[in-house]
Amino acid sequence: MERTDGSGAIAPWYGIVDGERREAISGERLEVVAPSDGTVFATIPRGGERDIDAAVAAARVAFATGPWARLSASERGRLLLKLSGLVAVHAEEIAGLESRDTGKPISQGRADAAALARYFEFYGGAADKLMGETIPIATGHTAMTLREPLGVVGSIVPWNYPAQILGRVAGAALAAGNTLVVKPAEDACLSVIRVAELALEAGFPAGVLNVVTGLGAEAGAALAGHPNIDFVTFTGSPEVGTLIQRAAAMNHVGCTLELGGKSPQVVFADADLDAAVPVLVKAIVQNAGQTCSAGSRILVERSIFDELVARLADRFAALVAGPHDADLDLGPLVSARQKARVGARLAGAEAAGIRVVARGSVAANAPAGGFYQEAVLLAPVPREAPIWREEVFGPVLCVTPFDDEAEAIELSNATPYGLVAGVWTANGARQMRCARAIRAGQVFVNGYGAGGGVELPFGGFKRSGHGREKGFEALMEFTATKTIVLTHG
Ligand code: NAD
Repeated sequence: MERTDGSGAIAPWYGIVDGERREAISGERLEVVAPSDGTVFATIPRGGERDIDAAVAAARVAFATGPWARLSASERGRLLLKLSGLVAVHAEEIAGLESRDTGKPISQGRADAAALARYFEFYGGAADKLMGETIPIATGHTAMTLREPLGVVGSIVPWNYPAQILGRVAGAALAAGNTLVVKPAEDACLSVIRVAELALEAGFPAGVLNVVTGLGAEAGAALAGHPNIDFVTFTGSPEVGTLIQRAAAMNHVGCTLELGGKSPQVVFADADLDAAVPVLVKAIVQNAGQTCSAGSRILVERSIFDELVARLADRFAALVAGPHDADLDLGPLVSARQKARVGARLAGAEAAGIRVVARGSVAANAPAGGFYQEAVLLAPVPREAPIWREEVFGPVLCVTPFDDEAEAIELSNATPYGLVAGVWTANGARQMRCARAIRAGQVFVNGYGAGGGVELPFGGFKRSGHGREKGFEALMEFTATKTIVLTHG
């Protein structure tokens, strides 16, 4: 099983379909590049339409007639708990894979592996606690509801948190009794394959958790538009989200979309800045800003604008980017393409005259072939600037002042997104007013949790998408209500 043995050899990885390791039917492969140095360290199958067909067929059989279909909710829960235990046993291996594949610092890889185990633990425990209701209707009848699995779920996973996003999707979807076909991102997918292998070791029947690697426009599009799936879940860019929703509509199946954000953190003059500053920095530096829920905009009350910017600037100037295994403040971006995207947005901001207040650095020993982007602090950022409104998906923090609470709320809501928000103030009534008025799927008061907790429902308002993952609520997304009425006189 060990494929990253440090021997320098390029390790071949395989998809998992119907309980077996699979090569792509075409036999073609894609290279996996390590963002820290730009070298190829593994290859994966370039799956396509026929591979997706095979995986969906296996998932359909597993759902309809296989041993999975006969398991009770508590038996499914026990399998998830077993998988959680195996992830914990292999946590260091998964953390290492995730870190090398995405470029994120190893401590973040470890946090992701721990969260992955926790997802399976949470949903393992929840599997047999999903209940229906009885409904009082006319005398002589008994009516009840059951939460039934949807069937075969297609999941398209991005590259920023492959392990965690697999955990939140597979945990909930499998707990509810569905089967899964996962198409992870071509830029980072090894942890997803590894978890599918561990699921077989845990005793999940063949066909329950299938992984087909490949390109978005090939394997991804084939999965989203497959006529034999029952639901699609997608996390990624708004542009691809549109394609996914259109494909789902063509088959009249539902989808959840998580399409990123431009999440505000509102800092009032009475905030505890000692507590706030490290959290404000972490919220954008985590995963080098490649986090859908990154706190990428800071709105600060004008009377403390200079003080807060100065404190943030001190921190930013000290931030160092370096290889994943050096475990510095941030790793490289995931790919040359992502580095070019972030660079183009920064160049646009600088050309528009937006002031760079502070810039971190790249470690002197960082390999020249890596995709490094130093952290950048911009302030004050005009409210009409594209970089204030559009997602950068890199370590770029924008700060702007506001004059009163009403303006802070208006500014918070003045982007197409609504994923997460932070509010920093000691005033209790203001905390609640802001939390209620800001249109975001999660609002944190005097804190911020990019990614927002295994137990907490997570998803967007407005263009950040629709549907909820995480928490107990995700089980609702992966099930449908069936109403049964008995007439007994
Ligand atoms: P993307 O949306 O293209 O990729 C996400 C996933 O979708 C990958 O698995 C990819 O293979 C798949 N995909 C791509 N095209 C597809 C298609 N036509 N049909 C089906 N699946 C398809 O994201 P990207 O190009 O890697 O990154 C672009 C931008 O997206 C980033 O700069 C960032 O702003 C955003 N993004 C957001 C998130 C998030 O967590 N919300 C994650 C990744 C990227």
